[in-house]
Amino acid sequence: MRAMVLEQPGTPLKLVERPDPQPADGEVRVRVAACGVCRTDVHVVDGELPNPKLPIVPGHEIVGYVETVGNGVDALAAGMRVGIPWLGHTCGHCPYCREGRENLCDHPLFTGYTRDGGFATHTVADGRYVFRLPQSGEDVATAPLLCAGLIGWRSLRMAGEGKKIGLFGFGAAAHIVTQVALWQGREVFAFTRPGDAAAQAFARKLGAHWASSSEEKPPEPLDCAIIYAPVGALVPAALSAVRKGGRVVCAGIHMSDIPSFPYRLLWEERELLSVANLTRKDGDEFFTVARQAGIVTETVTYPLSRANDALADLRMGRLQGAAVLVP
Ligand SMILES: [Zn+2]
Ligand SMILES: [Zn+2]
Repeated sequence: MRAMVLEQPGTPLKLVERPDPQPADGEVRVRVAACGVCRTDVHVVDGELPNPKLPIVPGHEIVGYVETVGNGVDALAAGMRVGIPWLGHTCGHCPYCREGRENLCDHPLFTGYTRDGGFATHTVADGRYVFRLPQSGEDVATAPLLCAGLIGWRSLRMAGEGKKIGLFGFGAAAHIVTQVALWQGREVFAFTRPGDAAAQAFARKLGAHWASSSEEKPPEPLDCAIIYAPVGALVPAALSAVRKGGRVVCAGIHMSDIPSFPYRLLWEERELLSVANLTRKDGDEFFTVARQAGIVTETVTYPLSRANDALADLRMGRLQGAAVLVP
């Protein structure tokens, strides 16, 4: 197999050849057809998340085909088309797992962070954390659903039922969530980096009601907002954009520090919360919603060997939609 490997945070990924991985009991080997590049991969490579497994193969938006099935995996068979998400393993017995909140498990493994992921021609996954996908479908277009879509869905659900919803940071997740929110009959207000006319045009093209700089106030108070950009200054901005009783959801795994802000921005029962990881139930729900809502992803593809370019483009905000690696 070939893989793009991170040896030390803050250094470029290196293309390496390795023997094909063999699935242990309970695991499957998957031939990767496409792997999306997520903001979290940038955080891993840049050393912004603590204690990655090193060396690590990043990538947790994997679409591929099962090649080999380890002992004890009954639900999967060779040839099946599958998706592998960020949540790679949970312990099953901590208090969080027992109460159905496996996204908060005390002893988890995460694909592309604490176990090897999909920036590769092949990968091995715990068979219980693999989603079956329809046997036919566009592999590249499906890859971003595995994290941008799933975390987007979880964050949208946690934002509540509000009709007017603000999205701060208009990248891969927001471009999927916009389509779901419109399908649900909501109005989308898109906030981008100041001066990013291309992202604002992209948001309008997808049906956003309004799109402007995150330094602007929306034309009317919003019911809720989700922050996808890893920028702490957006927290007070989003709080000041929502109405009394409105809710702000931070959807990223990492954010720069939140500047201090006056209590009146939180006052009047505004709520601020974060979304962590996903559960397998989120996946089952979201893949149904994605089909019903007719989600169409916008992707920019890169060959596997150009993973560093994809990460750089994402880091600099140089692409619309989602970056996807193809082995
Ligand atoms: Zn657990
Ligand atoms: Zn992700």
